Amino acid sequence: MKIGCPTEIKAQEFRVGLTPPAAAEAVAHGHEVIVQQGAGDGAGFTDDDYRNAGAGIVDTADEIFAAADMVVKVKEPQAVERKMLREGQLLFTYLHLAPDVPQTEDLLASGATCIAYETVTDRSGGLPLLAPMSEVAGRLAPQMGAYTLQKANGGRGVLMGGVPGVFPAHVVVIGGGVVGTNAARIAAGMGADVTVLDRSLPRLRYLDDVFGGQFKTGYASKTYTAEMVAEADMVIGAVLVPGASAPKLISRAQLSDMQPGAVLVDVAIDQGGCFETSKATTHQDPSFEVDGIMHYCVANMPGAVPRTSTQALSNATMPFMLALADKGWKKACQDDPHLAAGLNVHAGQLTNLPVGEAQNRDA
Ligand code: NAD
Repeated sequence: MKIGCPTEIKAQEFRVGLTPPAAAEAVAHGHEVIVQQGAGDGAGFTDDDYRNAGAGIVDTADEIFAAADMVVKVKEPQAVERKMLREGQLLFTYLHLAPDVPQTEDLLASGATCIAYETVTDRSGGLPLLAPMSEVAGRLAPQMGAYTLQKANGGRGVLMGGVPGVFPAHVVVIGGGVVGTNAARIAAGMGADVTVLDRSLPRLRYLDDVFGGQFKTGYASKTYTAEMVAEADMVIGAVLVPGASAPKLISRAQLSDMQPGAVLVDVAIDQGGCFETSKATTHQDPSFEVDGIMHYCVANMPGAVPRTSTQALSNATMPFMLALADKGWKKACQDDPHLAAGLNVHAGQLTNLPVGEAQNRDA
């Protein structure tokens, strides 16, 4: 199969769909790989890295879309890319179709077969192609929160690890899933005093079993959450209610109970945010203050570390990419129901039920 990887063109996107090691694996499986020149630049991979992996370099996205049997990307195809998709072509990337009617209509009209990273599942009911980005965002959250806690950045002027004789920062993580666990581990590694709050007792049991020595756990009742938040130097919001907007866990009125200069890091901002006063920010202007409390609310946190993010994403997508290339999408999806769950559009038909429900279309 001919596998093509274009340069990402969405604003502020520096990741790339294939790393040189992933390209090398595809070549070793007997496939031809073509990469648009400069596609890896933002993630620190040169054209020569791809050439050394056995890939060919082409000048334009048109050449990729014209020649490739399968296009591997990161972000949903932009309008100009959607025009280049063809009948029978396979597209493997993040799509996030539910709220995006224009994209859905263009993909249906293209006749292409589109497999979305975010709806591929795994045996434990998880989302294996979303998890790496949650890991990145979770590990980045205390790092960005610690920077925001510094006085010059508007924060309370507290050092995460304290020093001998001075207590460390109090960090509260609300939501102990993939983001929250990774955030808690890094905050604890920085020497902070960390508590993770969740509403799932099985999850709290798991966290206590595995990380009992590193951080504490608490049940996220309204009362206990309010008490913990009032004492915190940093609160990391990491909740997810599948298929719904994030619940608002800290109201504006509660900000006046908090320590002045404390920091709220709202990782759940991509689902609407879990603090009432959150609004999405960018890497260029990531934080703002409300009632003396700093807010960090960047909606695409993994974009800050495109090299790590690209490698993490490619590690997760590679086995699926190879299965699609080796077997063709039909056989690969027949053999693996978890990959089949990723099928969103095929030959003008919507094939994902939640997307159909969100848009009132047959699926
Ligand atoms: P997850 O499903 O692994 O974990 C979510 C956790 O929240 C679960 O343990 C659940 O029990 C808990 N929870 C739900 N409601 C709660 C409540 N009211 N109080 C306390 N805990 C509650 O999800 P995840 O992968 O960790 O993602 C967390 C959030 O981070 C999601 O909103 C996701 O979209 C977001 N995210 C954002 C970025 C970014 O760049 N900003 C990147 C990745 C993920």
